[in-house]
Amino acid sequence: MSLGCPKALVDSERILTQLRAEGYEVAPTYEAADLVVVNTCGFIDAAIDESLDAIGEALSRCGRVIVTGCLGARPERILERHPRVLKVTGPQAYEEVVGAVHEQLPPRHDPFLDLVPPQGVRLTPRHYAYLKVAEGCNNKCSFCIIPAMRGRLASRRIDDVLGEAERLVAAGVKELLVIAQDTSAYGSDIRYAPGSWRGASYQTRFIDLARGLAELGVWVRLHYVYPYPHVDQVIPLMAARRVLPYLDIPFQHGSPSVLRRMRRPAHAEDTLARIRAWRAECPELTLRSTFIVGFPGETEAEFAELLRWLDEAELDRVGCFKYSPVEGAAANALPEHVAPEVQEERYARFMERAATISRRRLAGRIGQRMRVLVDSLEGGTALARSEADAPQIDGIVRIEDARGVRAGDFAPVRIVAADDYDLTGRLE
Ligand code: SF4
Repeated sequence: MSLGCPKALVDSERILTQLRAEGYEVAPTYEAADLVVVNTCGFIDAAIDESLDAIGEALSRCGRVIVTGCLGARPERILERHPRVLKVTGPQAYEEVVGAVHEQLPPRHDPFLDLVPPQGVRLTPRHYAYLKVAEGCNNKCSFCIIPAMRGRLASRRIDDVLGEAERLVAAGVKELLVIAQDTSAYGSDIRYAPGSWRGASYQTRFIDLARGLAELGVWVRLHYVYPYPHVDQVIPLMAARRVLPYLDIPFQHGSPSVLRRMRRPAHAEDTLARIRAWRAECPELTLRSTFIVGFPGETEAEFAELLRWLDEAELDRVGCFKYSPVEGAAANALPEHVAPEVQEERYARFMERAATISRRRLAGRIGQRMRVLVDSLEGGTALARSEADAPQIDGIVRIEDARGVRAGDFAPVRIVAADDYDLTGRLE
């Protein structure tokens, strides 16, 4: 059972890959399982509740449960509510989780069962995969406890990452989603260590990562990028369609004073000027972001500044959260927490504004031809994504009457309709 963000999903995949290599199998239901490993999320209180509920459900339906992941960094919270849990380990504690599984359910050694595909076991559909390039984070955003839970930035070497990407592509992956807590900081902890791949030299750094992945000829989508000046270097690769013209940048706010209180990385950058320059160089660029409204001390003037910023930035895809305190986060101590009803009202205003922008931008797509990647089929309708849509978090392109199309195919479509977040296309 895997909860939480794509980073946690990658952790689950690693645990599963290791267990599969040892002959364990994945059971389709709790009842059919000898043991359940719950990978938890502890980011906000709602996620903690969801994780605790999932543990309770696994306990009642299977009985033998090991807990890992971000919430595992706080075992007392888990054991207080679920004392029957067999073992609790923290985030990225792969060996510990696997060790706990061995203790509870010793592996049957069978060299034939040990054969696992070299690209590992993935939880995503076969045609896309998350590529986690680093663990941990060196930033100190005041609302976040991930650095305390997951530790400091620890980048994987460039040759290791590019090798994994190559194996994934060889196994049929058509889209790679690059993730880390702060992808733009990739390699800074290991002094941009050099490596070689396919006979060429690369450094462990953001731009070399993009250049290397561009060689693979698949969709490459960059997530969790912060607007540091060096990010500008990737825009020409996007304009040349070597990597997808898509950037997921968690801006979180548009008011410099709120960003300072949030202690966001790159908070002093003039992001609007940046966005203008990027779009001038690559007009097709899609920008996705997330925001927090009702952060402690957020005044009406600061919120209005955020809305103006959003109007100017014209982001394509936007997610929004109402600030909620996380146990152990520095922001809890900030004065003037915003009342829940004010948060609610600001959230509604923000989402309305974001929907208007999205609707306008998507309406401009009607009549365009595009190549989409089909994720699944429901009846005769295919659910697909364009270059502008990341799986799970962005919109979709619905293709009616999609006979002959299979999941994992690229398909040429012409866009015939648009609503607030999704498009409808016809096969060309
Ligand atoms: S960048 Fe900020 S929000 Fe993201 S993990 Fe690091 S500290 Fe947390």
